[in-house]
Amino acid sequence: MLLADCHMHSLFSTDSEAPMEEMVEAAAAKGLETVCFTEHLDYDYPKQQGEEGPPDFLVDLPAYQEALFELKERYCGRVEVLFGLEMGVMPYLGSRCSDVARSFPFDFVLASSHLVDGRDPYYPSYFEGISEEEGYEAYFRTIPANLAAFPDFHSYAHLDYIVRYGPRRNEAYSFEKYREVLVPALRALIDAGKALEVNTGGYKYGLGQPNPQTDVLRAYRAMGGELITVGSDAHKPEHVAYDFPRLAELLRGIGFRYYAVFRGGKPDMRRL
Ligand SMILES: [Zn+2]
Ligand SMILES: [Zn+2]
Repeated sequence: MLLADCHMHSLFSTDSEAPMEEMVEAAAAKGLETVCFTEHLDYDYPKQQGEEGPPDFLVDLPAYQEALFELKERYCGRVEVLFGLEMGVMPYLGSRCSDVARSFPFDFVLASSHLVDGRDPYYPSYFEGISEEEGYEAYFRTIPANLAAFPDFHSYAHLDYIVRYGPRRNEAYSFEKYREVLVPALRALIDAGKALEVNTGGYKYGLGQPNPQTDVLRAYRAMGGELITVGSDAHKPEHVAYDFPRLAELLRGIGFRYYAVFRGGKPDMRRL
């Protein structure tokens, strides 16, 4: 059973309008024991062509912290509410990211590759002038580079998130095809004692797979990777714990027995 959703957003994130309380109510209705909010913080997020205002993907951390701790108290005994952050990392941002991660009492920090050299693969312009393969490889190479620059996180989010947005999405994507760049990314996480996040956003995006996909999870397990965290990446209440029973079955089938919930930066291992 998966009873904790450790990747979700509320209106403190630039791309969500969901009140925190509605996210927690949705979790309670689904029988979850624990939720961890992981609001977005991406320094130097670029403006897209023709765009004027936000998104800037910054977060008012003191206001977020205050709202979260108020909610934590209010739901005490019903749903455990944890304080997390999802940081969009690029190597040159390492020390800025570390300063933030150490300045607030986060239970859990996710590191994410959202940008490759300042460009977001979410937008088709990322793939202009390069092949899909080159775009994916460049993305996967960011993972060990980001880890080296910013080690103050607990779990790496949605490792192959780029396949949600590529020209052929995950049609021509496989672990074998990208083994040369995926293995060093997984090895770096294992050697550093970091967790690998399994994100059900892939199901929501119609990939038929979580992120990372099944063969990447198998490879991680085969390489000795045991530490995983689980999240829906919900930005709306109806997506909290999205497809969790399906994911639990997949993970058990691969040989995982536990998933981690980070509290105060320490993993609490829970049976799958
Ligand atoms: Zn993300
Ligand atoms: Zn997210």
